[in-house]
Amino acid sequence: MIKENNEQQQNNSYRSDRFLSCIVPVMNEEMLIEDFITKLNISLRECVKAFEIIVIDDGSSDGTVEVVKAIQKTHKHVKLIELSRNFGKEHALTAGIDFAEGDSVLLIDADFQHPFYMIPKFLQQLDQGYDMAYGVRKHRDDESILKKKGSNFFYRIMRSSTGIKIPADAGDFRVMNKIALQALRSMPERKRFMKGMYAWIGFKTIGIPYEVEERKAGESRWNYGKLADLALSGITSFTSLPLRLVGIVGFIISFVSMCYGVYVLSRTIIQGSSVPGWPTVIIAITFLGGIQLLSLGILGEYIAGIFSEVKRRPNYLIRKHSGFNKK
Ligand code: UDP
Ligand code: MG
Repeated sequence: MIKENNEQQQNNSYRSDRFLSCIVPVMNEEMLIEDFITKLNISLRECVKAFEIIVIDDGSSDGTVEVVKAIQKTHKHVKLIELSRNFGKEHALTAGIDFAEGDSVLLIDADFQHPFYMIPKFLQQLDQGYDMAYGVRKHRDDESILKKKGSNFFYRIMRSSTGIKIPADAGDFRVMNKIALQALRSMPERKRFMKGMYAWIGFKTIGIPYEVEERKAGESRWNYGKLADLALSGITSFTSLPLRLVGIVGFIISFVSMCYGVYVLSRTIIQGSSVPGWPTVIIAITFLGGIQLLSLGILGEYIAGIFSEVKRRPNYLIRKHSGFNKK
């Protein structure tokens, strides 16, 4: 225990010579954004030579922007990007990644769930030669079985079908250097499944376990519907496995029906025609109808993906930004 504490203190006192850009996506966080920036500021002063805090307002409808603007008056290194509406966290992060001026970048939530003591640990890994260091959530007992099983299943599919190892239990909480940052900037896709993108770019990465803190105020925007949506978008933007499965199922069904057809035909030739057979016909029609609709649905997901990519709309639109030297 004492050893662990010492170790933690040693890590906490680590100081890096980097210029760190902290990217903080926010949406309706007026209750905690001031406290968050003040405390982040104190932590960063201790562990890094220079830093900027880029707050991306993702279409807040409360007073978040006003609070940040008030902080900017006394904290010159706090920068603000106001998106024109709510684009979602992944797009807000993308805006931050595009605007970061530092030689390394920290992605962190504004709700205190990502503990600050991890920042020096991440920086230490970067200084030791890693291109990216990310937080791995330690399992919490209060998570529902549905969520645990669902996420296990999702990561297994992703791993086996894409060949890319997306680490389970790793979120956006991470620090990366300029090379990894440039790699992310070079990915123009509209469907931004960031967890997949961090893994796809490769480079030398390391995961460090941490205990997720409770949200300090307000509520998480995630629910089962949104999680399922994210999983679907992750799968369809990273692998064509579902399309291949549909092809395989189609092939198996055609083969079985062909064999059955040969059997029915030979029976009719040998024994003459028989009227019964309604149940078989109905089962075959409904079953095949179901498979066809399912296949169409899967195709539709991919076509919708193509549709949104070919339109080449920007990933986000900025209403205003303040505090930046360039741009
Ligand atoms: N967030 C955002 N846009 C959104 C939803 C969330 O910028 O549409 C921000 C939010 O303000 C917070 C971070 O993303 O700083 C994480 O959000 P949340 O706590 O709701 O997600 P969870 O921690 O449950 O994954
Ligand atoms: Mg949160």
